[in-house]
Amino acid sequence: MISEKLATIKKTIPSSVCLVAVSKTKPISDLQEAYQAGQRYFGENKVQEMTEKWETLPKDIHWHLIGHLQTNKVKYIAPYVHLIHSVDSLKLLAEINKQGAKCHRVISVLLQFYIAKEETKFGLDFGEASQLLNSDEYKSFENIQVVGVMGMASFTDDELIVKEEFSQLKELFLKLKTLFFLNVDSFKEISMGMSGDYQLAIEQGSTMVRVGSSIFGGR
Ligand SMILES: *Cc1c(COP(=O)(O)O)cnc(C)c1O
Repeated sequence: MISEKLATIKKTIPSSVCLVAVSKTKPISDLQEAYQAGQRYFGENKVQEMTEKWETLPKDIHWHLIGHLQTNKVKYIAPYVHLIHSVDSLKLLAEINKQGAKCHRVISVLLQFYIAKEETKFGLDFGEASQLLNSDEYKSFENIQVVGVMGMASFTDDELIVKEEFSQLKELFLKLKTLFFLNVDSFKEISMGMSGDYQLAIEQGSTMVRVGSSIFGGR
């Protein structure tokens, strides 16, 4: 079942786009099924759950933290996390840098932007991101690398709104690239698109989609 759904989704995604299988709340057996079908990128939104799964499953899996991250929990994922999608403050970035140093790692992160019309979504705006990237503290970090941006569109059936929000994130990415990462090849990821809107996101330039329920079923 899961392997068939994965295969179907992969057919609709260009090979240049990374498919992150969002397995939050799902049992280990579901992840094993996806793993056996070749899936190596998994997304989780809770530190404890992700760490338990990491301990149990094969070590060639790349673990993506996609949910809001509290500073006091960074230490649990620092030894193994592949990419943190949800950085929305300098304070959090400082803690990731500190824990990265302890593990002798450079931890890759995305800056999460607020693109939706909804009040509840986390994320930075352009001004806040520029301030962060211009700060001396940020420039002193040696154990993190910002590899791109992440955003969530509004939860709506109106494709025009969703398309507009994705296009806004792409614009933000390009602006940051020009201003802060011009010769930094590793700054290249735009994480946008979920089960309901990943096709639209890819049309707007997504390089990484986070797909959960279309692979593993509803939660
Ligand atoms: C849960 C979640 C997803 C996946 O959502 P689906 O609609 O199940 O595909 C993607 N991104 C984030 C940040 C999530 O929390």
